[in-house]
Amino acid sequence: MEYIPPEDQSPQHQRWMAQAMAMAQEAIDNNEVPVGCVFVRDDRIIAKARNRTNELRNATRHAELEAIDAILSDQELTPTPISQYPLSTTILYVTVEPCIMCASALRQLGIKEVYAGCGNDRFGGCGSVLNVNELPHPVRPPYKAVYGYSRDEAIIILRKFYITENKAAPVPKSKAKRVLKTEVAAPTPSPREGTPANLSLPTPDASKVHES
Ligand SMILES: [Zn+2]
Repeated sequence: MEYIPPEDQSPQHQRWMAQAMAMAQEAIDNNEVPVGCVFVRDDRIIAKARNRTNELRNATRHAELEAIDAILSDQELTPTPISQYPLSTTILYVTVEPCIMCASALRQLGIKEVYAGCGNDRFGGCGSVLNVNELPHPVRPPYKAVYGYSRDEAIIILRKFYITENKAAPVPKSKAKRVLKTEVAAPTPSPREGTPANLSLPTPDASKVHES
């Protein structure tokens, strides 16, 4: 996953990512891991979503899959018979690199490309852990994934979430003494950039409940 520094980002991509960040804000407002996304086709948002894993008590309810379900169940967006790659003209903007599960779903549906905020060093499926987006496959076309859009905001909102009490965790831990760090280190040049040093990730028990 290639890092695109802010000075090389187009304002239009930044605007779409701002819409995804608004969904991440909605997620944190609802005590969900703050990850949000928008899907754009023909220069308009056709779906937007955020994590609902806590609300639905279902670890697969990531923002991307929520939006995909909405797109696939909409007759205008996805007329039947469904084509082999119903997302082939659709671009995803998501505040955190898609996890392996979502990265695979996106590839199976033929997503055109992915713009991400920050990397996901625990579960990332576009290069941080596995490069599901471009692994050789006999049929499914690869897709391009880049990151760096609203990266600082994407990291800081995750930190905000993880320093507050996680009421949904099986054994809530007091995090009252934690302090929000607002400096974000620059990405490392490694292809598995992720955000190991930058992102204050959940304790192991919390990670079983929330991930993205
Ligand atoms: Zn996911």
